[in-house]
Amino acid sequence: TRVLLTGGSGFIASHVLDLLLKRGYSVVTTVRSQDKADKIKASYQSNYDNGQLDFAIVQDIAQLGAFDQAVVSEPPFDVVVHTASPCHFNITDVKKDLLDPAMNGTVGILKSVKAHAPSVKHVVYTSSFSAIMNPGKGDWPGHAFSEADWNPITEEEAYKSPLNGYRGSKTFAERAAWEFMEKEKPNFTFATINPPVVVGPVIHSIDSLDKLNTSNQGVLKAASGKWKDVIQPTGVYLWVDVRDVAEAHIQAFEKPEAANKRFFTTAGVYSNKEIAAIIKKHFPELKDLATESTPGGDYPESSRDALYTYNNKRTVDILGLQYMELERSIVDTVKSFQGLG
Ligand code: NDP
Repeated sequence: TRVLLTGGSGFIASHVLDLLLKRGYSVVTTVRSQDKADKIKASYQSNYDNGQLDFAIVQDIAQLGAFDQAVVSEPPFDVVVHTASPCHFNITDVKKDLLDPAMNGTVGILKSVKAHAPSVKHVVYTSSFSAIMNPGKGDWPGHAFSEADWNPITEEEAYKSPLNGYRGSKTFAERAAWEFMEKEKPNFTFATINPPVVVGPVIHSIDSLDKLNTSNQGVLKAASGKWKDVIQPTGVYLWVDVRDVAEAHIQAFEKPEAANKRFFTTAGVYSNKEIAAIIKKHFPELKDLATESTPGGDYPESSRDALYTYNNKRTVDILGLQYMELERSIVDTVKSFQGLG
């Protein structure tokens, strides 16, 4: 089976790539520059040498037709996994920096596959809990989020802040993708992976911890003494380990029952206070850690009952996921920081 993976330099994609290669798939991954390709190559030299891994440069997924060439290969692709999309809030222009790459990239790759890659049978897309959540409902006690939920965010709201812009980008891109499927009825199946906050070990190449991916930032702050006086409020109280997310991407094209479904890949509920406690327990040598008496980071009213929950049954039943525990995930994440400097 030959797979095109977009955005191979990213946090999540690097784990998808690692699993694909370990499982024997033939992979071409897109990156923005030759330099990024070279860094990945250095980690997988033998896979590259034996032809199992190759690269295609796609500089900017916001450009129309960006994937027209990348989807064509010899031998042809069977599967496309689309993860590339901006995942940070360090932006100046919501449309240019977030909405355009997310929407053009996602609809664009579906168009390119339909027009130029008739051999592709499955497309898997990394959407997000951002396309499921409903911030207007607050803590929404009693509600269990699932694949049935959609974020009602409007375009006007998306322009209000970088965070809204990101959430809008994921919501609108996923909606547009399903609309494409409905209207165009292409010859491939489509599935989306919708993770909440993804944490886990960093295996992609970053120059320093300053460049750490967005969703691991909380763990880094906890481990580097930034929560010494006050633990940061927990934004989204649902999490998942990156290795489970990577597995989900593969099962979503491997399992025939996964076709044309969303998957709310969620390991559980967590709070920043719990993350701080896990780090204190396993890395007592780290400086300036929060302690049991440090304020902040707790559940609303200090109780999980005052908060929404989740239903991840579909991901267990169809994708066969067995979710990792928070404790192991956080320990592995912090270990992966050590040595990155
Ligand atoms: P990263 O920032 O590590 O990865 C993002 C990837 O997208 C990078 O490879 C980046 O390339 C690429 N990319 C961004 N913008 C462009 C562009 N305009 N043109 C070409 N490539 C681009 O983040 P994650 O791995 O966390 O995110 C991967 C996907 O997962 C995203 O779709 C994100 O929305 C989704 N997601 C992430 C969650 C999380 O908690 N991490 C939760 C839910 C969904 P480069 O590195 O060269 O900039």
